Amino acid sequence: MTGAGSTPQVELLDPVARWNPRGDGRVRPVVRAPALVLARPGDPVDPCAEETVRLAEDLVATMRVSPGCVGLAASQIGIGARIFAVDVTGHPKARTNHGVFVLCNARIVSATQWQKGREGCMSVPDLTGDVKRARKLVVAGLLPGSDEEIEFETDAFEARALQHEIDHCDGLIFLDRVTGAGAVHTRKVYQEPRG
Ligand SMILES: [Zn+2]
Repeated sequence: MTGAGSTPQVELLDPVARWNPRGDGRVRPVVRAPALVLARPGDPVDPCAEETVRLAEDLVATMRVSPGCVGLAASQIGIGARIFAVDVTGHPKARTNHGVFVLCNARIVSATQWQKGREGCMSVPDLTGDVKRARKLVVAGLLPGSDEEIEFETDAFEARALQHEIDHCDGLIFLDRVTGAGAVHTRKVYQEPRG
């Protein structure tokens, strides 16, 4: 997803903070719907493989140069793999914030407190939509370069960003989840959050 903001409210919580980007990623072109790669479930990745570690860096590099981007999945740079980057730092709707991180083979452990909210996507640049997501989320997955599964809890906007990116890993975009015909909107402000 994408998000502009000015006041970093970084509250680094273990175990997500164990991984930090090296900062040597390449910026990749972002794929737009209806590209087939966005509609196919991604393959699980080997988090310890060098290509996965490099892909993690590329996701972070591409997310960082994209205005308002709060998350980016591999399918969005044309790679059908279950890995994504998230960083909701500075977003006004963020509460819990793990800073920048990449998660491999992520799965939702529990999802509660469903509520509707607006979201956008780098791969659907002209539209936003109202999507029901869990406000409280427990997620499990693996950090790049590690074979140990971690589990952590989050809420609010970071929870929404994670659900949006896990959907990308399953071949779904937010338009597959909108709450009804009136729930799709033409993007007025390009800097609205997207992922
Ligand atoms: Zn997206």
